[in-house]
Amino acid sequence: MKALTLQAEFAPKADYKLSELERTTRKVKSGSQVWKHPRINVGEQPDPTPKEDEVIIQVGAVGICGSDMHMYEASSDGYILYPGLTRFPNILGHEFSGKVVEVGKAVRDLRVGDLVTAEEIQWCGQCVSCRRGYVNHCDNMEELGFTTPGAMAQYIPVRARYCWNIREIADRVGDEHEALVMGAMVEPTGVSYHAMFNRIHTWQPGVYVAVFGAGPIGLAAEALAVAAGASQVIVFDTSPARRAIAQKLGATAVLDPVGTNINESLLELTYGRGVDFVVEAAGAPGHTLAPLTDALAVNATVCHIGRSEKPTALSLEHYQVRGVQLAGSLGHAGHGTFQNVIRMMASGKLDMRPMVSARMALDEAANAFKRLENRQDAKIMLLPN
Ligand SMILES: [Zn+2]
Ligand SMILES: [Zn+2]
Repeated sequence: MKALTLQAEFAPKADYKLSELERTTRKVKSGSQVWKHPRINVGEQPDPTPKEDEVIIQVGAVGICGSDMHMYEASSDGYILYPGLTRFPNILGHEFSGKVVEVGKAVRDLRVGDLVTAEEIQWCGQCVSCRRGYVNHCDNMEELGFTTPGAMAQYIPVRARYCWNIREIADRVGDEHEALVMGAMVEPTGVSYHAMFNRIHTWQPGVYVAVFGAGPIGLAAEALAVAAGASQVIVFDTSPARRAIAQKLGATAVLDPVGTNINESLLELTYGRGVDFVVEAAGAPGHTLAPLTDALAVNATVCHIGRSEKPTALSLEHYQVRGVQLAGSLGHAGHGTFQNVIRMMASGKLDMRPMVSARMALDEAANAFKRLENRQDAKIMLLPN
């Protein structure tokens, strides 16, 4: 089969403390400290066969994520930008959907022909974190497309326990190809859903929401806020193209943060009350959360979803005086998130297709990655079959 593989040199930085497990398995916790000179290429790989608890999925659509870009892009010293769990060489791609074409012996709930998407977090179900219900923080985590083979390929093996049927979406749109494109966006939308509705239990219809960053995660947060009954959704992004998509997805205001006083503009839009719910999806908390002070409403909630390695100085005095709560959020697995996102897409309440700016064949993947370097597109969807 055809697949897109990322190769990189295993070259731990001098000051990185590599554990024995990382050395022997090459599954490293902090990719940007270890992997050098990344390069991608589309080539032939053996067809996968299912283990007994796995299905083989013929990939219908797979999105290119900001994380994929951060594995493909290197900083000036040659190291990849992505700071998380990684093992190379590996087939990239973790936001996907497709059709089940083969089923392992022990699989009970999936059949050949089912349309499915899958969780990227490959939780073990046995460690203390999993047993406490925190599967996104599994102690033995593998990540599809990061440490195990991904979906930028014609076929992918996935354990059935991570798959979710998207038949409802296909029934709604009446077109398998469209359902597969929508299904490929359940995972990134799930990341925002998890942050907004599982991590923090203060969501109320009617709230004023600010979203920093109109990449796929920010746009998903915006669309979820609109669907969940926010009365204002104010989106900040530096890219005019992304602001235009934010407008299409129902933002009540879209602003360029550059040259804008964030607090003043938010206070003006919210009748001086400030925003009740803030989503950081820009990965630039130093420019988004750090300056945010007077525009935090009393009892506001701040969710941090954007990845950022650098520490950020926050005005905790404002957090205290206004009773603001801050939650970090990671992942999308568990808690019924996939089921609810699929239902929202199927019901017509959530349609992320406006953010797909191009659909391309797997052979064109190198051009797609190149094109995404300037961050004007929100989502490019690869169609491997
Ligand atoms: Zn992703
Ligand atoms: Zn676990």
